[in-house]
Amino acid sequence: MCGIFGIDGHEDAANLTYLGLYALQHRGQESAGIVSWDGRLLHAERGMGQVADIFDARRLGRLPGSSAIGHTRYSTAGSSVRSNAQPLVVMTSMGPLGLVHNGNLVNARELRDELEKSGSIFQTTSDTEVILHLMARNPRADVVESLMEALCRVRGSYSLLMLTASCVIAVRDPNGFRPLVMGEYQGRPCFASESCAFDLLDVELKRELELGEVVAAANGEVKSYRLAAMPEPSRCAFEQVYFARPDSRVFGASVSGSRLDMGARLARETPVPADVVVPVPDSGLYAALGYARESGLPLEFALIRNHYVGRTFIEPKQSIRHFGVKVKLNPVRELIEGKRVVLIDDSIVRGTTSPKIVKMVREAGAVEVHVRIACPPTAWPCHYGIDMPTREELIAASHELDEIRDLIDADSLAYLSLEGMLEALDGEADSYCTACWTGRYRIPTGAHAKVQSELFPIRTEDE
Ligand code: AMP
Repeated sequence: MCGIFGIDGHEDAANLTYLGLYALQHRGQESAGIVSWDGRLLHAERGMGQVADIFDARRLGRLPGSSAIGHTRYSTAGSSVRSNAQPLVVMTSMGPLGLVHNGNLVNARELRDELEKSGSIFQTTSDTEVILHLMARNPRADVVESLMEALCRVRGSYSLLMLTASCVIAVRDPNGFRPLVMGEYQGRPCFASESCAFDLLDVELKRELELGEVVAAANGEVKSYRLAAMPEPSRCAFEQVYFARPDSRVFGASVSGSRLDMGARLARETPVPADVVVPVPDSGLYAALGYARESGLPLEFALIRNHYVGRTFIEPKQSIRHFGVKVKLNPVRELIEGKRVVLIDDSIVRGTTSPKIVKMVREAGAVEVHVRIACPPTAWPCHYGIDMPTREELIAASHELDEIRDLIDADSLAYLSLEGMLEALDGEADSYCTACWTGRYRIPTGAHAKVQSELFPIRTEDE
């Protein structure tokens, strides 16, 4: 996952991009960067950590110009090192190019092998870099054409923004795995992973990019093109379940609305006699509200989240993840003591979080803990940009429902059905990628796609 933002033709381009990234921080906290174009040079600033820690007035002052793109990163391909922080910036015969990418290219390893054999020298271990090499080898008078031809060779998920000397280019892959919206700020086109970035800036949301659409923005004008591959909708349902911010509209639907509906359906599908509904904050909030409204049970905010800790799963090391749960959540004893609790979360992935939370709720005096999960059991790795790298790590891949219930020490456990989840999402059920629940992959991935980070084993000194 990653967050991307870009704007063309505004004198405050870098500052606006900084604010846009700030609103997209939830999509990645490992590194962030911005590149701007001042009509003569590309200027890039990148760093490890969160947007507000990396950028200050001095650094933003080093990003002059009226076009900029930016990125917040968490790694699904390539290791978590500074050299992999985006934007990637290169010099080509078509001029300088800056690139940011949200997604995962499933044939990056094959393409990289092929490019290296014929002389390419890669600067990063990130899958994104192959796009720049493909372009550099196939220069065109029109840089948009070069990018579109490069993308004909690439498979996987990609929402992209490219900054060139003549325009800002936005692309959404023909499957539309990841979101990307277009807006207008003071008459200037801008782009973001999610609409919440526009709300912060009072950008008018125009529309989502279509599947396989390429939009080039220059001098306040936008031109739209189509990639050659036929659109085949595979929108990531996990964006709606967990990733996107609830105040965003993603894939044309309100994220909070979808989550409320998932919670309501969960209540209808798997009711249980209880006294209170308790959300796991923040990911379970809206599903719990939906569950409480539908069941008529009171909703209690009995778990308090420390918001100054990053999302635990974004930390790439298991040891930190284990530690993270305790730092993150604390119960309010008065609200659950002596009560039968329905505990609602969005998903169980590795299964390291839930037992700790159930234990915490029991220790705070709950007499029963019934866990309800607002999506089906997550049993398959994602090859399209979510951090679920191996099947072995996913608890539902190797355990039955009863075993998971026992492992997390719940009195009962139930998940929302696949049908229920898809009905809660806006649009055709068929238009969603459900691979992490069903193992039905829309793009064949081959052995190489499995864990890109293992396949690119270089570690650099400046990490
Ligand atoms: P765990 O089961 O210990 O991996 O933690 C799962 C919790 O982390 C869920 O309740 C989600 O809120 C959140 N989460 C969502 N997606 C992921 C992911 N890809 N990897 C890890 N945790 C995630």
